Amino acid sequence: MNVEFDIVPQNFAGKFLLLSCCAPCSCAVIKTLSEAGRDFAVVFYNPNIRPLAEYIKRRAENERVCKLYDVPFIELEYDNERWCELTSGLENEPERGKRCSICFYMRLKRVMEYAKANGYTAVASVLGVSRWKNLAQVNESAYKAAGRKHGMQELRAALIKELDLYNQNYCGCKPLIKQEEK
Ligand code: SF4
Repeated sequence: MNVEFDIVPQNFAGKFLLLSCCAPCSCAVIKTLSEAGRDFAVVFYNPNIRPLAEYIKRRAENERVCKLYDVPFIELEYDNERWCELTSGLENEPERGKRCSICFYMRLKRVMEYAKANGYTAVASVLGVSRWKNLAQVNESAYKAAGRKHGMQELRAALIKELDLYNQNYCGCKPLIKQEEK
């Protein structure tokens, strides 16, 4: 099973899944891949998002983007209890710390299992798109080296505005939500 973060190789012709965390991070990738005729579906597996109302809001926005670009949208289970178990004891970790590694691993592993069981040959993700993530730093360098950074980032910003997408101001998990909002 391949795992490609942010960039799906041009010569990859298989059917793949794109793990999306939210509409703002995935809109430019979804539009670009859809217009290029790539065979893919978006999978929404984000049991890390709290509270539930926020999860529902992000899911609805991501589904709206998929409908716009005629891309299948798959929602997997909202297993927040399991996510809390796995990250228990790491509540005070900073963003980009150990809790995030477990969070990424849980989500990618589940999506890879789903892909295998359902005839997809690869998994891609936009988890590194957020400006708060370590992967973003790695991918930033890759985009820069490939001369692609500005195109995708500008398209992302333009689509957020054009589609009036809800653009949250925190990654997703409970430890990062202020006490009064829990
Ligand atoms: S900050 Fe984001 S990536 Fe890190 S654990 Fe929380 S939801 Fe997951």
